[in-house]
Amino acid sequence: DPEDIKRKITQKTKAIMVVHFGGQMAEILEIKKIAKAHNLKIIEDCAHSLAAQYQNKMAGTFGDVGVFSFYAIKNMTTGEGGMVVTSNDKLTEKILMFRLHGMSLTAFQRYSNKGKWYYEIKEAGFKVNMTDTAAAMGVAQLKKIKKFNKRRQEIAELYLKNLKGVPGIILPKVLPKRTHVWHLFPVRVDSQRRDEIIKDLKDFNICTSVHFIPLHLQPFYQKKFGYKKGDFPISEEVFQGEISLPMYPHLKDSEVKYICRVLKYLLEDSK
Ligand SMILES: *Cc1c(COP(=O)(O)O)cnc(C)c1O
Repeated sequence: DPEDIKRKITQKTKAIMVVHFGGQMAEILEIKKIAKAHNLKIIEDCAHSLAAQYQNKMAGTFGDVGVFSFYAIKNMTTGEGGMVVTSNDKLTEKILMFRLHGMSLTAFQRYSNKGKWYYEIKEAGFKVNMTDTAAAMGVAQLKKIKKFNKRRQEIAELYLKNLKGVPGIILPKVLPKRTHVWHLFPVRVDSQRRDEIIKDLKDFNICTSVHFIPLHLQPFYQKKFGYKKGDFPISEEVFQGEISLPMYPHLKDSEVKYICRVLKYLLEDSK
């Protein structure tokens, strides 16, 4: 919420971390304006939004850095791992160094016949390099991402068509100028009945999840930063009624229709 970002900026603020939730981009142009006015960096969390677009421009290319996840459940995977994109050369150099111990040269550069054995540790880095085997999986997956996302879009359309007008459900919307890649299909129901509906769906062999439990309700964040219930009322409200319906490219049309039928039955039946 760009308006809320404005209210939350203090002297200590250095960057705005934007999550493009569920496969659709946030109000990134508004947020860019705010960042510019306050001289702040933008980090785009694109873990849900590989190839999502705003005005035909890809998620991850608006801010200073875009960060992607290739964890097992994302739109494409390398098992574990991810990707950082930036057009800032200095930052690129730093990221490359930090990913492997803070070393100036990678093993490949040191051990190839054109390489040299000398290296320097320039920073206290991490060991967060992607393995070559994971990268090989990523190269193959990347060739399929358009197909994967297209199937997700078809499934979303089928959900929207079949759940249209069902009482007691709020459906997700595609916002203007966006290409949605539907990492999730999040619907909202009456928060009083949410947990019961999840349980009933399970009885029909339909497994769902909830995205997400807001951080300010988590013990660590409450202890460390003093957050408490009520601090982020809109996040709480959305969370309390949220159910993420099954969404993955291998989901069949017949299965989507079955899920819609059951959900409709549950919502209409027990009003
Ligand atoms: C999965 C996810 C991450 C973390 O990705 P990892 O590769 O597991 O570190 C970050 N942000 C969001 C919104 C995610 O869904």
